[in-house]
Amino acid sequence: MNQNTISPRTASWREELRKSRTAKERTAIERVKMPELTAEYRVTTLTEEVNSGLTRQQAVMEASRCLDCPDPQCVTGCPVEINIPGFIKNIERENFDEALAVLRETSALPAVCGRVCPQEKQCESKCIYNKMNKPAVAIGYLERYAADNGNPEATCKAETNGIKVAVVGSGPAGLSFAGDMIKRGFDVTVFEALHEIGGVLKYGIPEFRLPNSIVEKEINGLRELGVKFEKNTIVGKTLSYDDLHEMGFKGIFVASGAGLPRFMDIPGENLINVLSSNEYLTRVNLMHAGSTGYATPVFRGKKVAIIGGGNTAMDSCRTARRMGAERAIVVYRRSETEMPARLEEVKHAKEEGVEFLTLHNPIEYLGDEQGRVRTMRLQRMELGEPDAGGRRSPVPVPGAIEEVEVDMVIVSVGVSPNPLIPNAIENLQVSKRGTIIVDETTLQSSISDLYAGGDIVRGGATVILAMGDGRRAAASMAEKLLS
Ligand code: FAD
Ligand code: SF4
Repeated sequence: MNQNTISPRTASWREELRKSRTAKERTAIERVKMPELTAEYRVTTLTEEVNSGLTRQQAVMEASRCLDCPDPQCVTGCPVEINIPGFIKNIERENFDEALAVLRETSALPAVCGRVCPQEKQCESKCIYNKMNKPAVAIGYLERYAADNGNPEATCKAETNGIKVAVVGSGPAGLSFAGDMIKRGFDVTVFEALHEIGGVLKYGIPEFRLPNSIVEKEINGLRELGVKFEKNTIVGKTLSYDDLHEMGFKGIFVASGAGLPRFMDIPGENLINVLSSNEYLTRVNLMHAGSTGYATPVFRGKKVAIIGGGNTAMDSCRTARRMGAERAIVVYRRSETEMPARLEEVKHAKEEGVEFLTLHNPIEYLGDEQGRVRTMRLQRMELGEPDAGGRRSPVPVPGAIEEVEVDMVIVSVGVSPNPLIPNAIENLQVSKRGTIIVDETTLQSSISDLYAGGDIVRGGATVILAMGDGRRAAASMAEKLLS
């Protein structure tokens, strides 16, 4: 690793840069707008990325808004504490390779995180510009710029130590663990149940938000370093925990995610064309339903309701519009302020003609004589007292029931941990929610050679948290195996 990468704030080039513009000049620059495809065009293409990325000039100008704060609060908002001013100032001096190198010190997947992290709730929410009532520095857009335009340092293959470690699941947690372990010299094999590597990054998040080529680039980088990938292998079924031991694996990192969709358990959920967002998105993204040349069936609803207000709901409604839905209606039981989805996804969904029916909750679906969903019955809600998490709870308005015609319902009300591994391994301590219980610092489970991280530990969370877990687990497992 380049030892000069994280130049201290006192480095002469940083001081020069700081002096090149006054703070007043910097704060007078308007926040950049991300160039994007027009909404009319977007809904005609399933795969083209909506955000086109900043131009070089835009990136450099946006980077010069950053004040290179002496105590940068943006860093405290980042779950993996990226040296944010460090990479941004490298963009300002147009050294994109260094900017990427700074990002890579703490983030295994910057091109992914620059596209999908909820920056407005994390780093950008802590940027000093908020205190000045000005829009935060566009940290996410800049991260994406550096990741797309910087050349990664060539990572030398580490000398192997011959110790075999296994990874279960190839989402962001598994990939970042694999990357860190191969760089430490371990012999790493990733086992993936599906026929594609990438976890939610491939089967969940659509290409119009995160192109597969970006994910593939990261995976190919790992392959080149020597990580082995075994697809179509379900640990707990195809291979048991004992099999992994017999194969010589000395440490196992479980990163099997939270791929089990939840339903609401209301009448009519078994009707035809009521399905989970996981199933819908997997059919379209992973199995290419909707693309020419593929036989995967998927119903193309014209009046589609999407239940929920998270990123999965946004991905589903926007996919439905691209699959020909004339009406795509997001039904959410709280108000828009409480929606957990990234702000940009809500904005894009609205631009693409998605309707938002907030403060409504489905209570029943009604079907026709063939058993196909035709109507949803909705309970109107209002906001009551804040719940334990501080969000105001939705309360039914007595007697306020509405009916809306639909021909498809996509349920996006959350996910549960994948139960396969917890069920297949004896003596593995699991919480009531079905998550694997681990030591918070080391991520070691109740079984000494088994570590776990990402959504299988946290429940449905975020890419950056999963990635951070992979890195922490790699550090602690490596320490144990090498001691
Ligand atoms: P996953 O990404 O779920 O990967 C787990 C992998 O393990 C899967 O490939 C699975 O097939 C495999 N597996 C499971 N069991 C086994 C087994 N027994 N043997 C072998 N393999 C197994 N987060 C954000 O930060 N920003 C977003 O914009 C965002 N959008 C999202 C949109 C959608 C549609 C979804 C579903 C999630 C989104 N998330 C987002 C959440 C984020 O993707 C997850 O938190 C993250 O992917 C979790 O990573 P992971 O590595 O723990 O698991
Ligand atoms: Fe730059 Fe904002 Fe971070 Fe300050 S808080 S260093 S202005 S991004």
